[in-house]
Amino acid sequence: MNDIDSFLTSAGRVIYTFPVRAFPGLVANIYVIGDGDSKVLIDCGSGMDKSNQDLLDGLEALSEKYGQPFHLSDMDAVFITHGHIDHFGGLPFVRQYSDAPIAVHSLDRRVLSHYEERVLVASRLLDTFLQRAGVPSESRQNLMSMYLFAKGVYRSTEVDFLLGEGKLRPDGIGIHHVPGHCPGQVCLLIDDVLITADHVLSFTTPHQAPESITNNMGLGHFLASLDKIAALDGVSLALGGHEDPMPDFKGRIEEIKQVHEDRLAQVLEICKEPKTTAEVSQELFGQVSSYHILLALEEAGAHVEYLYQHGELVATNLEQIENEPAPVIQYRRC
Ligand SMILES: [Zn+2]
Ligand SMILES: [Zn+2]
Repeated sequence: MNDIDSFLTSAGRVIYTFPVRAFPGLVANIYVIGDGDSKVLIDCGSGMDKSNQDLLDGLEALSEKYGQPFHLSDMDAVFITHGHIDHFGGLPFVRQYSDAPIAVHSLDRRVLSHYEERVLVASRLLDTFLQRAGVPSESRQNLMSMYLFAKGVYRSTEVDFLLGEGKLRPDGIGIHHVPGHCPGQVCLLIDDVLITADHVLSFTTPHQAPESITNNMGLGHFLASLDKIAALDGVSLALGGHEDPMPDFKGRIEEIKQVHEDRLAQVLEICKEPKTTAEVSQELFGQVSSYHILLALEEAGAHVEYLYQHGELVATNLEQIENEPAPVIQYRRC
C-alpha cells in the first residue's frame, strides 16, 4: 500500500496521509500533521502485523517522497481520534520505536489505558443488550466470542495527556469533541482542514451502537455532534479515518442525517406490530453474516433506543418485563 498524499492548509501546515490495512477488508487512514517544527501522528492502525508493516512502510514512503524524516522515532506526539481498535490498536507497536506522548479524549482514555477491564465490562453490557434484543442464547455466544476474539491483540498503553475541547496552543490544532460513534470521538481542525476521523466518512454512514452498552454513544449524541461540526466555519476540506477526502463535508453531513431519518421512519413502520430489536435488525438489514450480524444488531439497537428515548416507541410486554429475570423487550410504535 503506497497511496501517499499530502494537503496544504491555509496557514501553510502540511497534512500527510497514507492508508494501512487495519483488518482484512478494512483500510484505515493514517495522518501526520507537520508544521515545520513538529510532527504529530494521528492514529496508528489496528496493531495487526499487516497494519504495523503498512504503518512503517507508509512512513518510509513519506520520508522518501518529501525528503525529511517521518519515522516513528521522529514523531513529537501521537493523537488517537477515538477508542476503536482500528485507530489505536497499533500503540504498543508504536511504543517500541517512540516515546512520544500519547493523547486521547478523556472519555476514551480507559479503553487505551485499562483495556482488559474495559473489554470485560463492555462485553457484559453487550451480552445484556443482545439478550434483551431477543438474540437466542446459542447465536449470542457466537457473537460474544467473535467480539472478544477481535479484541485480543491489544495490550494496555499509558495515555500521557488528554485532548479536551478547544485548542492545545493558541496557534495549534483545534479539538472538537463529537461523541456518538464513540464516547471520546474528536475531530481535529488544522487551520481550514478538518480531520473528521469516524465521525464523518465519505461513503459509509458511521456505525452507531446503543448507549445502553456504552455511555456517550448512541444516535442522539451522534446527531447532535453532526450539527455541532456542521456549524464550523471556514472548513475547505474534511479528511476521514477511512475512505476519501470530502471537499463538500457539509453536504456529506446532510446525506448522513438523511440516512438516519429514513432509518428511523423505517423502524417506526416495522414496529406497527410489537417487535424485538433482533426482529427490527432482520427487517432492516436482511440476512447478514459473521461480524456484520453484531454490527446490524447494534445499529438497529441504536435506532430503537433513540425512538424509545423520544417517546415514539413503547415497550409492550410489561408482564414479562415485570416477572422474568432477563426479559426480551417488544417495542411498538406509540
Ligand atoms: Zn470508529
Ligand atoms: Zn474506524
